[in-house]
This record gives sequence, C-alpha cells and structure tokens, in this order.
Amino acid sequence: MADLPPGTGDASLTLAQAIPLSGAVVVMTPQGVAVQIATKTLNTFRTLKVPILGIIENMSYLLCPHCEAPVELFGHGGGRKASERLEVPFLGEIPLDPEPCHGGDVGRPILIEKPDSPVASIFRQVASNLAGRISVEALAA
Ligand SMILES: [Zn+2]
Repeated sequence: MADLPPGTGDASLTLAQAIPLSGAVVVMTPQGVAVQIATKTLNTFRTLKVPILGIIENMSYLLCPHCEAPVELFGHGGGRKASERLEVPFLGEIPLDPEPCHGGDVGRPILIEKPDSPVASIFRQVASNLAGRISVEALAA
C-alpha cells in the first residue's frame, strides 16, 4: 500500500507506471473543494488504466464527547456525492476520533486496542468493503 499526497503530481504518475497496482482508493474530506480534487485524481488514475476501487470519506464527523451527537465539521456527504458523480463505489465514512490517533502514537492500532469500539467497527466495515472491491477487480482482470 502506498499513501500519496493530495492531487495529481508526478508521484502518482511515476508510481502507477513503476509498480503493478491492484487499484486506487481516493480518501477525501466532505468539503466541496475536496470533490474537485478527488475528480482530478480519479481521472489521472483512469488515464493510467489503474482500476478505481472507490472513495472513502475521512473526517466525516466528530462524535460530541458530551452527548455523542455527530458534528459535521467539514460539511456532509462530499464523498458519497463524488462517488455518484464519478460512478465509483463509495466505501464508507470515517469519523474524526482521537482514539485511532492515540493508538497510532503508541503503536497500538484501534482494532487491537479497542476492537469493540464504534470507530473500530467502522474501520472493519470500510476494510471489508475495500477487500470486496479488490476481489472484484482481480476477477475482472
Ligand atoms: Zn454534544
């Protein structure tokens, strides 16, 4: 797995030509401007004939620590909107949550540290959606 910076720089092009890729996943925030960036990125990978596995929306919302209501800091639904517009699968919404960040700092991923937490179950669901897409693309190839 390679994590690329936003946009469509030389890094994406070089990587796609140098390494056989199972596919590309676009991770974006919900804002309108992110939809435009995701569109450019997807079109670059399409040009390179890299399968598009789907879109994941990150920082979708924050669960209020006081009342657990979702707070949509960066708007709502950009990832789903982009997936519909670009006709690629939507793989899920990942909330802002301090726990995975803390787990990363101490080397204990949330799925090991707190496997029963709501955010761990969201990560499992998104990973499962992605694994399904990789299987479908592998069969189609
Ligand atoms: Zn609240």
